[in-house]
Amino acid sequence: MTDSSSSATPASWYRDSIAVQLEPTPVLQGDTRADVCIVGGGVTGCSAALHLAERGYKVVLLEAASVGHGASGRSGGQILPGLGTDIATVDKALGRERARDIWEMSREAVRLTAELIERHAIPCELAWGYLHAAVKPRHVKELGDFRERMARDFGYESLEWREGDALREHVVTDAYPAALWEGEGGHLHPLNYTLGLARAAQRAGVSLHEHSPVVELKRGEPATIITAQGRVVADRVILATNAYGKDLVPEMSGRIMRAANYMIATAPLTAEQAAQVLPRNDALSDANFVLDYYRLSADRRLIYGGEVSYDGRAPRGLEARIDGKIRRLFSVLNDVEIQYRWGGDVAITFNRAPDFGRLGANIYYAQGYSGHGMAMAGLAGKLLAESLGGDSERFDTFAAMPHRTFPGGRLLRTPLLVLATTFYKLRDRL
Ligand SMILES: Cc1cc2nc3c(=O)[nH]c(=O)nc-3n(C[C@H](O)[C@H](O)[C@H](O)COP(=O)(O)OP(=O)(O)OC[C@H]3O[C@@H](n4cnc5c(N)ncnc54)[C@H](O)[C@@H]3O)c2cc1C
Repeated sequence: MTDSSSSATPASWYRDSIAVQLEPTPVLQGDTRADVCIVGGGVTGCSAALHLAERGYKVVLLEAASVGHGASGRSGGQILPGLGTDIATVDKALGRERARDIWEMSREAVRLTAELIERHAIPCELAWGYLHAAVKPRHVKELGDFRERMARDFGYESLEWREGDALREHVVTDAYPAALWEGEGGHLHPLNYTLGLARAAQRAGVSLHEHSPVVELKRGEPATIITAQGRVVADRVILATNAYGKDLVPEMSGRIMRAANYMIATAPLTAEQAAQVLPRNDALSDANFVLDYYRLSADRRLIYGGEVSYDGRAPRGLEARIDGKIRRLFSVLNDVEIQYRWGGDVAITFNRAPDFGRLGANIYYAQGYSGHGMAMAGLAGKLLAESLGGDSERFDTFAAMPHRTFPGGRLLRTPLLVLATTFYKLRDRL
């Protein structure tokens, strides 16, 4: 099953290994009053709900399907410092000082993830270690330059060079001429993490309603949020719908494009096979623009992601392409069964930096992590809570990042992204 966006949450290995049970999450019915209504039960929405409830707000969280239905419950599970774009993009747009602040906040996002997991005892298989792997000679130079620049301009010394035998101690393949290893990055079971945040939010007093899609937002002070069977009147609204948001708020949806990404999970590997793949249990992503990424689950499945499409339908030959890549990387996996396939949608901004902001006085949003939101969405929730609580400095540092609306609206947006990505795909082949 590789549909990426239908309202039914796809069968995935994540769905089949849920370890967190929520309290009942009834469909919203009738009228409710809230200080804050949050739309979207992914990491952004659940983290915002938790942090706001801890500050004493009365919070209603509405999720169209089930918690983790969107990208948060389908992702590669890699939690990494940085953004979906090189921090140089921020440097250029906002200057060195704010770029440093944003870089440090991206590191904080990873630490926050670990803290939340510990504080709320979330069983989500958190493990540390991440490889950013060169595929081509030009990547080797790019990674070397990146490492130097991060140390020089951002004081970031956590990128360690690996090649040859030292690299094979982390990943047993000849596919990569070199890699950067980062102890500050890691991986987790994204659906259990998201559910764990939702459970913590419920325990902090949040009213969570699943299967309650918001069909209309009436702006005003207070705002009215309307579902099929209910209504929330709220002083403030947080939109945390990311790529799954459709056109509830057109100003927001014009600033992102939706792209589907595809994942597989193999059958559990034997300990010997796992030692011939990722012996140190790192996560890895390659340095291509349209990148592939993978890691092992706690029960030693290879969880592998990559490939893109723009209409939500799986690209032709998808299965053979992914399977071929895995077998070429690791011959030890030649006969291993691929047991699960699923897809999910990422929201990409024009410059691939996340898009945080406000619409009018009382509507807040965070979206467009551009494939790099597992850690950052957790911090976004915390920054949203800070901002609603009256300290907007850190939220506004992100919100200062300029974002363009994709030209041509929904109809032209997709062909433009296809064109741009085709260019980069071709470049990946050089
Ligand atoms: C296949 C895949 C792999 C990825 N791998 C990684 C990775 O390894 N590392 C990484 O950092 N990032 C990764 N990402 C990106 C990351 O998952 C996202 O950036 C992050 O999960 C975004 O969280 P979110 O809460 O903002 O959005 P989502 O998790 O998408 O949540 C949005 C929610 O809003 C709900 N919703 C939408 N409209 C409405 C409505 N009208 N009413 C009520 N609810 C609504 C949806 O049902 C959905 O549950 C990946 C994404 C995908 C798809």
